[in-house]
Amino acid sequence: MTSQAIDSARVTGRSIDSVLHRLPVDFERLAGLVTTAGGEREFQTVRAPFNGAALGRVPLCTGEDVLAAVERARTAQKVWSRRSFTERQRIFLRLHDIVLQRQDELMDLLQLETGKARMDAMEEVLDVANNCRYYGYRARKFLKPRKRKGALPLLTAAWEHRHPVGVVGVIAPWNYPLTLAISDALPAMLAGNTIVLKPASLTPFTALYAMKLLRDAGLPYEVFQVVTGSGSQVGQPLIENIDFLQFTGSTSTGRQVAQTAGERLIGYSMELGGKNPILVMEDADVEKAVSGIIRGSFANTGQLCIAFERLYVHRSLYNRLVDWLVQSTHDLKLGAALDFSADVGSLISQEQLEKTREHVEDARSKGAAVLAGGRARPDLGPYFYEPTLLAGVTPEMAVFAEETFGPVLSIYPFDREDEAVKMANDTQYGLNAAIWTRDSARARRLAQKIETGTVNINEAYWAAWGSVDGPMGGFKASGVGRRHGREGIQKYTQSQTVADQRLIPLAPFGGIRPRTFALLMSLTLQAMKRIPGLR
Ligand code: NAP
Repeated sequence: MTSQAIDSARVTGRSIDSVLHRLPVDFERLAGLVTTAGGEREFQTVRAPFNGAALGRVPLCTGEDVLAAVERARTAQKVWSRRSFTERQRIFLRLHDIVLQRQDELMDLLQLETGKARMDAMEEVLDVANNCRYYGYRARKFLKPRKRKGALPLLTAAWEHRHPVGVVGVIAPWNYPLTLAISDALPAMLAGNTIVLKPASLTPFTALYAMKLLRDAGLPYEVFQVVTGSGSQVGQPLIENIDFLQFTGSTSTGRQVAQTAGERLIGYSMELGGKNPILVMEDADVEKAVSGIIRGSFANTGQLCIAFERLYVHRSLYNRLVDWLVQSTHDLKLGAALDFSADVGSLISQEQLEKTREHVEDARSKGAAVLAGGRARPDLGPYFYEPTLLAGVTPEMAVFAEETFGPVLSIYPFDREDEAVKMANDTQYGLNAAIWTRDSARARRLAQKIETGTVNINEAYWAAWGSVDGPMGGFKASGVGRRHGREGIQKYTQSQTVADQRLIPLAPFGGIRPRTFALLMSLTLQAMKRIPGLR
């Protein structure tokens, strides 16, 4: 454990230092595994958002450290990819059990490092286990060679093979530091790649702990390494040396890193920002809708890419639903609790607090009504902000179109379905949406008109997020590429088609004149179009 002085300020249940000292990890030593020798090294202090206490420190890696980590990963990848699928699978199925067994430790660390409520930390644990099980059992099918239709029936046989891309760089944000460190890396490793992960500067401990759990599950160290440090100092050299980039973060950083990846002609997958809408139709069950809206908007204190910031309610329900929503928002318990007693935790940093405050104050000053919340809560901790409901939001207000990434929900009435769809789609983003209605067939039809990568019916976000067999990602400025399902693993591979030509070549043969060959080929293609089995 680090020898840093730790503030012993109490949060509900237990003190931060008692929780930190129970974690069986020396974070500074683990982070130091990737550092190369030589020169004075700078360090960065990691703090607990609940009260600003110093939790420890990690080294700021240099470009040289990153290069060395990628080289190690490249050498290790050759050995790792030759291991049988069953050997690789065993490790990740073991990880499934480890994360569930050590969930208390994991939730403690996640809460210390992010300030999130315990239920939000639990979601991360569940997500990792869900992905371990899914890809552990399904990846073999997605990776195995597949027979494809050859150019000419009987004469050409073709197979599709999948090869790992090599070294995958994962750049992750701070809001779901366990999920976004491991869940996207799992399929990449199962496909025979190795990983160099750059966690967000605010949350390196969770990434290092994830690395430890992977090692406990039997993963060789070089297959998953963590480089700590800032985006500009560590992120850039990483992208300049890897073979594929898995990036999760803001749309503006995504655009920037995509340029480097584009210049290098390496593949990338981008999971970016959102401004997610909820639609409540006139036939919705209001009680269930309110409960889902609360969970979906204030989960992780609004710092969740698929959380909701815009609510469109049919006018016939508007007053009833809004009254209920205001009451339920007032009833939420905010607090720094290292147990399940608080519903909503802290924001992670001063920057997040400022952004949230600015959006609310800008809206208030331009005429929006604050129906609930709208205040920072320094009495609970330095970055606490109350879950907030706004009405009367107009396009001049920043909160109308910009992602707040805080606990702020703007509510708008609508009269017609097409009007609600138009408003929901009136954004540069396209990540997640939810629809509440008793008519599920109608909702599925309506979902086709919503321009988002996932749509949840009568549920906030877990239905689509947890359905890991279905792809997940963003339309428009919310992303490129998908996680989950077949796409979520095949993106980490290069496909190769191997075609075997039998008996005759695909060219004039045996003295046949070119003209005759052309005629024969035309007739063959016409027959192939006509006969269903040959299409
Ligand atoms: P961010 O500022 O874009 O940072 C994301 C990651 O990129 C961090 O590790 C950051 O490092 C790194 N980075 C920053 N500049 C870089 C550069 N020039 N080159 C390489 N790496 C660089 O995003 P954030 O504030 O951490 O996260 C919040 C955003 O992520 C929100 O917009 C949210 O919607 C989005 N998000 C999307 C998803 C999704 O699945 N679609 C999931 C979670 C979050 P530092 O920490 O050192 O700056």
